[in-house]
Amino acid sequence: MTQADLLALADQVLLKNNKPQPVVLSKGRGCEVWDVAGNRYLDMTAGIAVCGLGHSHPEFTRRVQSQLERLVHISNLYYNDQQIQAAKAIVDRSFADRVFFCNSGAEANEGALKLARRYQSVVAGAPQRTKIISTVGSFHGRTFATVAITGQPKYHEGFGPLVDGIEHIAYGDLDAATKALEGRHACCIIVEPIQAEGGIIVPPPGYLAGLRRLCDDTGTILIFDEVQTGVGRTGRWFGHEHDDVTPDVMTLAKGLGGGVPIGAVAMTEKAALGLTQAAGGAVPHATTFGGNPLACASAIAVLEIIEAEGLLERVTQSGEYLGGKLAELVREFPGHVTGTRGRGLLRGVVVAGAPAQVTAKAREKGMLLSVAGSNVVRFAPPFIVERPQLDEAVGILRSVLAEGAGKAS
Ligand SMILES: *Cc1c(COP(=O)(O)O)cnc(C)c1O
Repeated sequence: MTQADLLALADQVLLKNNKPQPVVLSKGRGCEVWDVAGNRYLDMTAGIAVCGLGHSHPEFTRRVQSQLERLVHISNLYYNDQQIQAAKAIVDRSFADRVFFCNSGAEANEGALKLARRYQSVVAGAPQRTKIISTVGSFHGRTFATVAITGQPKYHEGFGPLVDGIEHIAYGDLDAATKALEGRHACCIIVEPIQAEGGIIVPPPGYLAGLRRLCDDTGTILIFDEVQTGVGRTGRWFGHEHDDVTPDVMTLAKGLGGGVPIGAVAMTEKAALGLTQAAGGAVPHATTFGGNPLACASAIAVLEIIEAEGLLERVTQSGEYLGGKLAELVREFPGHVTGTRGRGLLRGVVVAGAPAQVTAKAREKGMLLSVAGSNVVRFAPPFIVERPQLDEAVGILRSVLAEGAGKAS
């Protein structure tokens, strides 16, 4: 089928919940992808911060393929070797003692919220501590609970009544957090180390450490949503490492499986009690697909390949290089782009006009970029991206801006 035929078919058979860019992609290699018409695109989105190893990475492909030939799914009625080894691989690289696997970022956050509620109720003997504290501008997913904790009203429209018992406080504001936590009504606070979907917002230094202190003082569970910042995206294994602080619970998904869907809740021994089955009690939390051997083999491969290829270091260097180049564009086009921010290979360019116009024009010129927040164009390329590719990306953005995109209307 031609690209036009496929687009017409999509128009008939797919739910029109969103409006994808009008290209049908069918092949990828490294930082490049191709549509069915044979047009090539430089991929600066990596499937929304997912494909850190790029597309069709040979070693990743080999390992996933070999798992596919051995065992794909067996349920959690039994252990499987890949799940145990994937948990060990995360524990070895993080603060965590235990890991629960699921299938997406939203589902990981659901698990973390359930852990916090049940921890307070069953372990801490404080069943009245039910409130969930989240932040304005956050993004945590699309399920009923995670959309309700998401601090952006546009995602709530039409879905009321929302899950209640949730309070949104200003992001980066420790005074607000102090007020929210001091009454000890909250079971947990959930924050992103960098608000990614909200517009690549980096909190002030000391914010995460301040939250840690507040949570220690008040017995509140500290959850870091590392679904986007985790697994190397910021140049460290996890985004919170930049602030030298650890949470009680961390959620992962996007980058963990290299494109194979997987989510994880990583936690301390103490927090783990929140979802531990009591003797003779019911199973407090579980999932059919979570921790299946295929997804877990993918995660092990991602973690080991990041290490073997020295990609954390490379993300830091490439991120600094890209950040510098984007800052040059801010000086060149002050009427179009007003700033740049981010960490590692999670970078945002703040646009004066419509960011979607910039991403659409960039795609027409052969580059994939995504929008974050109301006025930010996001760069989240594969970790393996090379200097010439970053130069090409900045060159395309420059020509898009030179043609007038991004200008305040
Ligand atoms: C993408 C994202 C989610 C939701 O993940 P899904 O896999 O789409 O459910 C949650 N939190 C953050 C920070 C995200 O970036």
